[in-house]
Amino acid sequence: MLTNTSATSQAVARPGAATPPHRAKRSASAARGQQIHSSRAEPFERRRATLRLYASATQEKQLLTFLRLHCELYNAALEERRDAWRAERKTISHYDQTGQLPLIKKLRPDLVALGAQALEGTLKRVDLAYQAFFRRVRAGHGPAGFPRFRAWRDFPGWTYRQSGWRWTPREDGKHGRLELANVGSIRVRGGARTLGRMKTCTILRRAGKWYASIVLECHPQRRGGSEALGLDWGVAHFATLSDGTTIDNPRLLERDLEKLAAAQQIVARKKKGSRRRAKAKLAVHRLHEKIRNRRAHFLHQVSADVVARASLLATEKLATRNMTRSAAGTVEEPGSDVAQKAGLNRAILDTAPATFLALLRYKAAEAGVPLVEVDTKTVKPSQTCPACGVVAKKKLSERVHRCSCGVELPRDQAAALVCLQAALTAFDLTDKTQAPGEGAARAARPSRSRAQCGTASRAFTLHARRAGTRPPASLRSAGGRNRSETTACGGQGPGEEVFGGEIVDSPPPPACVSAGGD
Ligand SMILES: [Zn+2]
Repeated sequence: MLTNTSATSQAVARPGAATPPHRAKRSASAARGQQIHSSRAEPFERRRATLRLYASATQEKQLLTFLRLHCELYNAALEERRDAWRAERKTISHYDQTGQLPLIKKLRPDLVALGAQALEGTLKRVDLAYQAFFRRVRAGHGPAGFPRFRAWRDFPGWTYRQSGWRWTPREDGKHGRLELANVGSIRVRGGARTLGRMKTCTILRRAGKWYASIVLECHPQRRGGSEALGLDWGVAHFATLSDGTTIDNPRLLERDLEKLAAAQQIVARKKKGSRRRAKAKLAVHRLHEKIRNRRAHFLHQVSADVVARASLLATEKLATRNMTRSAAGTVEEPGSDVAQKAGLNRAILDTAPATFLALLRYKAAEAGVPLVEVDTKTVKPSQTCPACGVVAKKKLSERVHRCSCGVELPRDQAAALVCLQAALTAFDLTDKTQAPGEGAARAARPSRSRAQCGTASRAFTLHARRAGTRPPASLRSAGGRNRSETTACGGQGPGEEVFGGEIVDSPPPPACVSAGGD
């Protein structure tokens, strides 16, 4: 069995820098690629690196065998829980099931090759499926959906903890080889933006391709910029910045969606259970994957670009209004499947702001850029004049902000400016006579007008800047005390993945190829 000690030690080291004693063990071996600023006593953050596996024919065969066995174990564990409940109203716990593993391995020696921790991981998936089920039952919205038996073709994969795997990246911290116990050394492509201690490795099969999703504990760093920027979501543009920069909606996705609708029709025409249908379904899965990758790439790129320019970021707190207003006007050609396409467009466009905001949050935290989320109800960015502060309702169709004070601006830019001003107000007006520790948000007083800032005290969510990072110019005047009051936002993001990019949040998305198909 492989152990992962060398994978752990190879990643973290700062070339040319003295190794701090508490990290000496970890950075003992070769200095590689990325640097990690280890002098600060900060908690590690978790990031995910996704590698594409290029397995040989023999390795592929072995991976498929493993996938089938893990799926079999999953289904068996599910069946045991179901039967025990039906027959005796007995609940079987995760603990009970892992306790049976030694016996199961005696009866089924073919499971031994999978590794004890990986087997436990699959039982854990059953447990999580149950927990999610009970959560849905308690929530009581609609059908709770009992955990289902899985077909091995749709089974997402399995997870290793410390042992059974080792990723050895190249000198530059990318690609290299992934060694899996009883499979061999597999060529991989991809990498992490910031390397670190490798914690877990999840092998995933998606649309016929194999991936490894590796969780790393690291200190991700990035550079911020020098501008204070407001940002607004829109219909015409994906986002508008307070300086007038617009970021277009990626129209690419719409084209892909048409292809997707066509591919789904092909599936519908094939006989159930036939080879041709399986082939058509694979095409649908591949398209889904492409769309997902493109969208993730777009969101990662845009959020990185925005953070790279910013010393302060201000945006609206997400509200349902933002989630429901985007689909209109994106379906250009009327005809077949308009409703379906509209639904898909909506799904894609609507999840984008939430995902984008999550990416923005953790990237801003990495760069030490404060991100202020302005409460839409108290500040009303789309109805307030950024110049004079007068509040006047606008219809959604009014694309230009015209005010009696003579200001004329694109609507979205005006909203972005209002957000920015509200954020700046929160920081700049910290009362100098106040005791240290009084927060920026609480100390904020409306400056230009009450109308503009509303009750500023409740209007903001301040996201943490990590200790030790340099405050932006706009904040330095207010002293360091703002820092203590900002709320931690960590690196929590969605499980969204970009191939080769850096990723957030630990547990892998459970069902990877379930969307679409039939
Ligand atoms: Zn005005």
